[in-house]
Amino acid sequence: MALKQGYIHVYTGNGKGKTTAALGLALRAAGQGLSVTMIQFLKGETDIGEIKAASALLPNFVIKPTGRRGFISQEEPSVEDREGAAEAMELASKIVHDGSTDVLILDEVNVAVGLGLVPEEWLISLMESKPQTMELVLTGRNASPRIIAHADLVTEMRAVKHYFNKGVKARKGIEK
Ligand code: ATP
Ligand code: MG
Repeated sequence: MALKQGYIHVYTGNGKGKTTAALGLALRAAGQGLSVTMIQFLKGETDIGEIKAASALLPNFVIKPTGRRGFISQEEPSVEDREGAAEAMELASKIVHDGSTDVLILDEVNVAVGLGLVPEEWLISLMESKPQTMELVLTGRNASPRIIAHADLVTEMRAVKHYFNKGVKARKGIEK
């Protein structure tokens, strides 16, 4: 099974659901026999539900975490953050060049662009050079106007309420 025509999605905004939306799409695609690769920018943690589920249950859905395990400070990305972003970019470029997956998800790539870890120009050129049949999904807050202009589908998650503001921290099985 392969797509006849692939499109570019952007899930952005301050509300919860961007990564979850991409994972829902990945589940659907994998179920229909498409191959899915999710490269996680700024997320080196491996003890997360989506990685466990994909590796145990979905052989055609591969998730590649990159970067540091902990929280990345908005102010000053470390050498480790830069190395992680470089690794993620290299892998994404290779997959786009080879056309070796049907659905490519670059999770949090918009945030990496915002932090200056990923050049906007690199992402635009990736969007322009993707194989016609590849679906490309970009997530993360603050998608830049140029990224939005280059996409075919853009959804902005708007935070109406979030229990984070009641002091609820990320929970295993729900946020990670
Ligand atoms: P999820 O991975 O749960 O789909 P997301 O990808 O939309 O969330 P991110 O911007 O990647 O959200 O944020 C990562 C973490 O911050 C998640 O645990 C998410 O639940 C939480 N979060 C999302 N929106 C908000 C918000 N408005 N206020 C506080 N925390 C939030
Ligand atoms: Mg996210």
